[in-house]
Amino acid sequence: MNFKIFIQTKPFVIAGPCAVESEAQLLATARGVKAAGAHALRGGAYKPRTSPHSFQGLGEEGLKLLAKARAETGLPVVTEVLDTRDVLLVAEYADIIQIGSRSTQNFPLLKEVAKTKKPVILKRGMAMTVEEWLSAADYILESGHDQIILCERGIRTFETATRHTLDLNVVPLLKERTKLAVMVDPSHGTGRASLVAPMAKAALACGADGLLIEVHADPSHALSDGQQSLDLPAFEKLMKTLLSR
Ligand code: PEP
Ligand code: MN
Repeated sequence: MNFKIFIQTKPFVIAGPCAVESEAQLLATARGVKAAGAHALRGGAYKPRTSPHSFQGLGEEGLKLLAKARAETGLPVVTEVLDTRDVLLVAEYADIIQIGSRSTQNFPLLKEVAKTKKPVILKRGMAMTVEEWLSAADYILESGHDQIILCERGIRTFETATRHTLDLNVVPLLKERTKLAVMVDPSHGTGRASLVAPMAKAALACGADGLLIEVHADPSHALSDGQQSLDLPAFEKLMKTLLSR
């Protein structure tokens, strides 16, 4: 994929399930998000789950399914890497490598991912200041690699009515501080499907370049993050409003 052209798409929308669960689930979701106008497909093959008893992802099998979905839809794929030992394998399949919230200060991982020269989505850690986030980006930048998208995904505050508190302040702030592309993930930022569309629109209104939206063809049966995933009709409706802006 051509990163420069990708981030100039205003807004660029990356959509797909939290986790790759099966061929049928991924392909149905991939076809749906493509038809609705998404620019890339997301799906985790390696999942950072709070509990070791939760679904951990399909691993390499999940990466192969992402490659299959890309071949069928033409959408570039975004997937997370958790472990330095998996970086080369993930880089073989991913068009953009996601570094998740729980890994943004895993400095050895940042250095290994930088070596691949693949575009990177660097999510904000859930208790990370902007200074710390930009320093994490410096680990990649100092290797001479600047294909980085910063992704605000909500921070942990005293508020428990929503999963996280989406900090949209950082969007215009990062625009003052850096030239890097800035995107927002209202799915993890709110934790509730009903709040995703309004916060996606708010993110664009304050200057975000792109959005990351969790979409599942059948959210009530999702193995992770179903409560915050849009179904295909809701995603299609959101895309219509976003693209007609
Ligand atoms: C995800 O994108 O599914 C994910 C685990 O996100 P985060 O790292 O923001 O929690
Ligand atoms: Mn998720």
